Amino acid sequence: DAEVGQWLSDNKVSIYGDRVPQPMFEFSDLVAPDSVHHAFIDLGYKSPTAIQSIGWPILLNSRDLVGVAKTGSGKTMAFMVPAALHIMAQPALRPGDGPIALVLAPTRELAVQIEEETRKVLRRLPHIHTTCLYGGVPKYSQASALRAGVHVVIATPGRLIDMLESRATNLLRITYLVLDEADRMLDMGFEIQIRKICSQIRSDRQTLMFSATWPMEIRNLAASFQRDFVRVHVGSEE
Ligand code: ADP
Ligand code: MG
Repeated sequence: DAEVGQWLSDNKVSIYGDRVPQPMFEFSDLVAPDSVHHAFIDLGYKSPTAIQSIGWPILLNSRDLVGVAKTGSGKTMAFMVPAALHIMAQPALRPGDGPIALVLAPTRELAVQIEEETRKVLRRLPHIHTTCLYGGVPKYSQASALRAGVHVVIATPGRLIDMLESRATNLLRITYLVLDEADRMLDMGFEIQIRKICSQIRSDRQTLMFSATWPMEIRNLAASFQRDFVRVHVGSEE
């Protein structure tokens, strides 16, 4: 309606896709355990950012999403809050189970940043276990964290492939896949690794991709990994 249209233009949001659910303008619109709402209060957040308002209802409807938004848009909570709700809806982790959610990021620094941001909300959800995998450090402590059982893996593509090859983990249970900073991952030459990883993940997964830009290479990546996705641009004219 008109109010939504005004909000979209005020926030420079463009949405492309079919059957797009209504945005969640307030945290109270999000159906989630109290612990999640308390996390937002702890953090002093007043309301969802634009990518969260648009993304949450799409993701909670189990749809695929492409988010094109610049740094600082609150993309981590946009994908991690629905990831946490997705995980809470699954049976408890048993010994030997692989992770349910996988977030791929281009660099160690970005992977660590995502993990820190994720912990801000997961501090209130201590039964959800997360680990971060990146190169440049020994593999054994990352491997033992994986073997202890985690719900969420945040990883750079190269180190994840190393871990898969050494059978420290598997992707059999992944149903929520996030490609964060996809344009940077392609710039860094990770396309072959990303394709290799995605080919090992069940095709009925939910797939999310975030990028600061929307060039042809990213369109091709989205076309090959995503189904019936909604694309949201925040803060760009495109
Ligand atoms: P991006 O991945 O889009 O660059 P981040 O997810 O790293 O952005 O978030 C940027 C900052 O915004 C972080 O400090 C984060 O805690 C904060 N943030 C996220 N969501 C909200 C919100 N709804 N209200 C206020 N701050 C938020
Ligand atoms: Mg980010």
